[in-house]
Parts: sequence; C-alpha cells; structure tokens
Amino acid sequence: MEKILNFINGEFAEPANGQWIDNYEPATGKVYSQIPNSDADDVERAYEAANAAFPIWSNTPYQERSRILSKLADLIGENLDALAAAESKDNGKPVSLASHVDIPRAESNIRFFSTAIMHYASEAHIMEDRVINYTNRKPVGVVGCISPWNLPLYLFTWKIAPALASGCTVVAKPSEITPMTAYLMSKLCNEAGLPAGVLNIVHGHGHQAGDAMVSHPGIKAISFTGGTTTGALIAKKAAPMFKKLSLELGGKNPNIIFADCDFDQMIRTTVRSSFANQGQICLCGSRIFVEASIYDKFKEAFVAKVKRMQIGDPSDQSTKFGAVVSKPHMEKVLSYIELAKEEGGTVLCGGKQHIPEDGNRAEGYYIEPTVIEGLDYQCRVQQEEIFGPVVTITPFESDEHALEMANSVEYGLAATVWTSNLTRAHRVAQQIHSGIVWINCWLVRDLRTPFGGVKNSGVGREGGFEALHFFTEPQNVCIQLKS
Ligand code: NAD
Repeated sequence: MEKILNFINGEFAEPANGQWIDNYEPATGKVYSQIPNSDADDVERAYEAANAAFPIWSNTPYQERSRILSKLADLIGENLDALAAAESKDNGKPVSLASHVDIPRAESNIRFFSTAIMHYASEAHIMEDRVINYTNRKPVGVVGCISPWNLPLYLFTWKIAPALASGCTVVAKPSEITPMTAYLMSKLCNEAGLPAGVLNIVHGHGHQAGDAMVSHPGIKAISFTGGTTTGALIAKKAAPMFKKLSLELGGKNPNIIFADCDFDQMIRTTVRSSFANQGQICLCGSRIFVEASIYDKFKEAFVAKVKRMQIGDPSDQSTKFGAVVSKPHMEKVLSYIELAKEEGGTVLCGGKQHIPEDGNRAEGYYIEPTVIEGLDYQCRVQQEEIFGPVVTITPFESDEHALEMANSVEYGLAATVWTSNLTRAHRVAQQIHSGIVWINCWLVRDLRTPFGGVKNSGVGREGGFEALHFFTEPQNVCIQLKS
C-alpha cells in the first residue's frame, strides 16, 4: 500500500512516531494509501528547517524566487493528468472537474504569485519639511498554511504561493482527508529548484499536527481555510502569541433570483452553483431565494434539470457528479436531509444515499442531488452549513424580503444575484452581508481581487496584493533630510 511521506528540509520522511492514518478512496469506500500521523516532533523538525532556510530565501532576489515558482507552476502543468487523476481518487470529485478546474487553478495560483511579486511595490510619504517616509515590507518569517479537503491542491497552492513569493518559508499541512496531491507536488519541488527547507509539508490530523503548528511560538502567521469552529479554536490559541491570522471559514451562501433575469442562463448556472463538486465548494449557493412570480416556473425547470443529473464513477471522463469526500461527511449531509423533513420541508428530488450497481463502488459515498422546499428561512437547515449536494428553495415577495432572508445567517462568504435591472443589482449587492457578490454569474474568479468573508465566514482577505500584504510586515522608515 502506498505511503505518503512528509517533506521536510527537501527530503521525504516518515513520521517520527511511526504512526500512520488510513486514507480512503471516496468512490469505493476502501483504504488505498496511508499518511503520516505526524505530531509536534515532526512540526518541530519542519519548523527548524524552515527557520534555517529563512535568511537565505528572504534574501533571494525576487526575480529568482519568481523564476523558481514559475518553474514549479510549469511542472504542475506538465503533470496535469496524473495530478487530476490523483485528486479525483483522493477526493471523489469527477476527474473532468479536477483536470479543468482544480489542477489548472493550482498551476495558475503559483504562476500568478510568481509574477505578482515582480510588481509588488510599497509606498512613500513625503512631508513638506523635507521628511521622507517609506514603507519597507519585510517577509513575516516562518509561516503556517493549513488547508481543507474540498479543493485540495487548489487551496493548498492558494496559500503557499503568496507566502513563498513574499520570501517567507513555510510549514504547510494539507487536509488529512485529501493529502495526495500536496504529496505529489512535494515531489516536484526539488526539480523546480526550491531550496531545502523553504517549503515543508507535514501530514496528519488537525488536532495534532495542525494544533502543533498553531501552538508553535516560532511560526509567526497562520493562513487557514476550513470550518468556522476550527477557525475559532485557532484564533483562541494564536491570540496570546499575537500571531497574524488569515481565516477563510464556512459559508451558507444565498442565491437571489429576480423575475427579470435571463432565465435560461440563470437555470444553467444555478445547477452548477448548487451542485458543482457535489455542493462541496465554500462558494456554492445553498439557499436559493426566488421571486414569487416565477417560483413555480423556476421550481419546475430546476428540479427537472437536477433529476437528469447522473451520479457516476469519478474516474470516468464523462462523469459530472461524483462522490462526497468521506463516510462521516456523507452521514452528516444525510442527517440534514432527515432534519429538513422534521422541520417541515418537502424533498422535491434526491434525498437519499445512492448505491451504485457496480459492486466495486457499492460502499462509496454517494448522495443524490437534493432540492428541498417549504422550509422557514430561520430553521436549522436554512441556517447551518451543510456543505453537500443539498439546496433549499424559498419564494420572496420584495427586495427587502429577499435581503432579510439572505442576511439572516451567521455567515457572509459569497452571494449570487440574478437580475437584468442594473440599479437593483448594485443596490442589492451593497446591502448583502458577504465578502463576494456575483451578479448574473458564479465562480468567475480574477486572482487579483480580494477574496474572503465577513461575519463568521472569516477574518482577512486573500488574493492579489492582499495576500502579499498578509505575508509581509510593513515597517515605516522616516528620514529627515538636512536643511
Ligand atoms: P476543517 O476545519 O475540519 O479542517 C481544515 C484544516 O484544518 C484541515 O487541514 C484540518 O486538519 C485542520 N485542522 C483541524 N483542526 C485543527 C486544529 N485544531 N488546529 C489546526 N488545524 C486544524 O475543515 P474541512 O472539513 O477540511 O473543510 C470544510 C470547511 O472548509 C467548510 O466549512 C468550508 O466552508 C470551509 N471552506 C472555506 C473556504 C473559504 O475560502 N472560506 C474554502 C473552502 C472550504
């Protein structure tokens, strides 16, 4: 059975305690590899390597850092097919999604920050009496990057790329549920010319390896993407050490559909924004609010399309809808469908586990895409993050009514608005409590834009220069010139 290894100081290493965690393939429910059950000893070794590499890497000219990162991006592109197949096997997502979204985006994340650092400049403030202030942006030091399972290599690279481009050295931990592509990428780092110790990858459980990173006094900043409860734990632990924190957390995103929208385009995109990656994208719109005058038309067209979705083998190129990531996650999502029935909802389609006829996949983690109506917007199913292929549909009477329901949750990550009325689009966008608003589109991403949420969806922004700001510490230098 394949063993995934830690990557510390440019070398592959077994966990110091000799313990391993089983890694499951969601499509079959079978164990197919093992990952290190790393603990504080491995994190300490990774930290020491990163700390030793910091003076060299932070003083490496930015053009050279850019060249090495750009080479790493090339290597990811050259290995696209193998990485996409591995991502699909590890996560349960359709291989077509991994090869068109996850892996190309991992490549672009690294390429984007390899070039962003070439254009990164800081300000000067000139005072009238011949005093010059300039801002010196220095890399923070050794930083920790912790990522989740839903977009494994995509979100892992979204963190490590700006950290490395800024001149920080990194201790990183991918999710223990989907560790494979970060491991495969670590095999490319030496070939790309990344000096030993600059990027260290420690695999293992969050409460053990992740906690050791957050608790380590030498790790100066934590960039975290994951659940809101975990984010709160991290914030509590890191606060007394005054670590810099970037927290990208959960969501319960509204999708507000007005009667004057382009109906066909909206329906096509809404199927995607509800069920892409089996609904396991933090940006999926899981609460669909539809203007009452088109509610029945919407319901009929949407449910008909969702019923036509085929659940398939994630490794098959034609599959559009695969498995959810793990058995506990499948059980959690199914329990929310049961709760929806208890809360008075009607399941319009889906609603059950799907058991494939293909014997090899009979124990895989499949859930039918599910649409529910008739729920009060304040019930638990409409308030809590489910993070699976389950959406609710609810009619609204006016802009104010839609906004009241949209803003009623503790989250504020992303929102989608469908209307052809430009004034309304701007007005509603301004009044929605969320870090991102898509109007007449979904998941269109420009990597220069600020990315992140408000309320319990997080603190701080990633993307573009925001990410480079996070991984650098500004120092004001003030010079008085002789008169
Ligand atoms: P999670 O919080 O369980 O785990 C995320 C990462 O944190 C994993 O690597 C895990 O090992 C680690 N971790 C867990 N406990 C830790 C601890 N005590 N200390 C340090 N690290 C710890 O989240 P998940 O289940 O992997 O991911 C799903 C969640 O991520 C959802 O809530 C989803 O909305 C959110 N998410 C948010 C964004 C965003 O950009 N805001 C993007 C993707 C996913």
